[in-house]
Amino acid sequence: MRRISIFGATGSIGVNTVDLINRAGGASQFSVVALTGGANIALLAEQARNLGAKLAVTAFPEHLEELKRALEGTEIEAAAGPDALAEAATRPTDWAMSAIVGVAGLRPTLELAASTRVLALANKESLVCAGAMLQARCAAHKTLLLPVDSEHSALFQAMRGEDAAKISRLILTASGGPFREWTLEQMEKATPDQAVAHPNWSMGQRISIDSASMFNKALEVIEASVLFSMPQESIDVVIHPQSIVHSLVEFCDGAQIAHMGAPDMRGAIGFALDWPHRQPLPVKRLDLASIGRLDFAAPDPLRFPALRLAHEVLELGGGTGAAFNAAKEAALDRFLAREIGFLDMARLVESVLENAYVQSLCRQTPRELRDVEQIDDAARAAAARWKNTL
Ligand code: NDP
Repeated sequence: MRRISIFGATGSIGVNTVDLINRAGGASQFSVVALTGGANIALLAEQARNLGAKLAVTAFPEHLEELKRALEGTEIEAAAGPDALAEAATRPTDWAMSAIVGVAGLRPTLELAASTRVLALANKESLVCAGAMLQARCAAHKTLLLPVDSEHSALFQAMRGEDAAKISRLILTASGGPFREWTLEQMEKATPDQAVAHPNWSMGQRISIDSASMFNKALEVIEASVLFSMPQESIDVVIHPQSIVHSLVEFCDGAQIAHMGAPDMRGAIGFALDWPHRQPLPVKRLDLASIGRLDFAAPDPLRFPALRLAHEVLELGGGTGAAFNAAKEAALDRFLAREIGFLDMARLVESVLENAYVQSLCRQTPRELRDVEQIDDAARAAAARWKNTL
């Protein structure tokens, strides 16, 4: 039986992964080594019971008693906290999903790179903060890293069987989010409730707001550069409101190969789960005639400065990705707490990237987790001090 673990099982990606596992036979086909979640203990316990998991871990120690109670009468082991998450990630598997949100997913992901055969990576923050470290670890342990982000899965699929040296450009599509047609003045006043309402994709709260600001696309530009070893000037973003074309690869002869499909994350998750074979998936089939038209436009750099920042991060290199991600996470926390406005998030992140102490820490590429943690701490401290002086 295939041994699997799902980190972030209770989130949007996690729930879709569990859905596919259940459709593929659940406990009768998979030996579930570990499931992890955060505060949603009822769902974690239900998933663990249904799939007969050996271990269920909540990230938060204050929820351990509740988890133990919810698992009473079963033999499922319960654990809590970051050390327990990291330990769970050392347990050998054939396939593991990394879908914790944010930099909290980095430590377990680094452990998974050494303990699983196929690492399905949704936690893009791991690649942004510690791409070189994660890839080196995967290479050392012969672990196959498969992207789960729909754009990167699309790129991966479009370049399959091609000579990587002949790829000239990667083109990531972006829906433009809920503020695609908003003015700068409207965006200045946007609230978290407005920002979370993504037009096409159903996702977790944080990535939905990151999509509205295009910080998610900025992370994806960095992720694509790391994953596919492409220089920043060879990565473009195009706005495509229908989210049907998931990304494109351009080759030296001018041909562009696009990946298309319905906007449903089970496409990319299923591709990684079934790799190297394709299996039928429960995603809606495209009917291009009824869709009628597909639109494309260049992103507006004034309203979406996050994309420019991503290219600057790649130019600067070293540990700048870790600072960028920490500043972005801290800015989002402050936006959610209504301390800063929607467009302030990019101003805050830019100011953190200009901070002399943060820059000094970012000169070296992180070699160990504690290097990333040091940058992360410094960037969050600078982000906490930031004030809008406009
Ligand atoms: P969600 O917010 O829906 O879920 C996040 C998961 O992480 C939940 O299981 C949550 O637990 C858990 N979690 C929350 N905080 C912590 C913590 N401090 N430590 C450990 N676990 C924690 O996120 P998504 O599923 O939307 O996204 C997950 C990852 O996948 C992100 O990196 C995102 O960028 C990426 N991704 C997501 C896509 C999507 O369509 N959603 C598309 C492409 C990439 P609980 O809910 O129980 O509190």
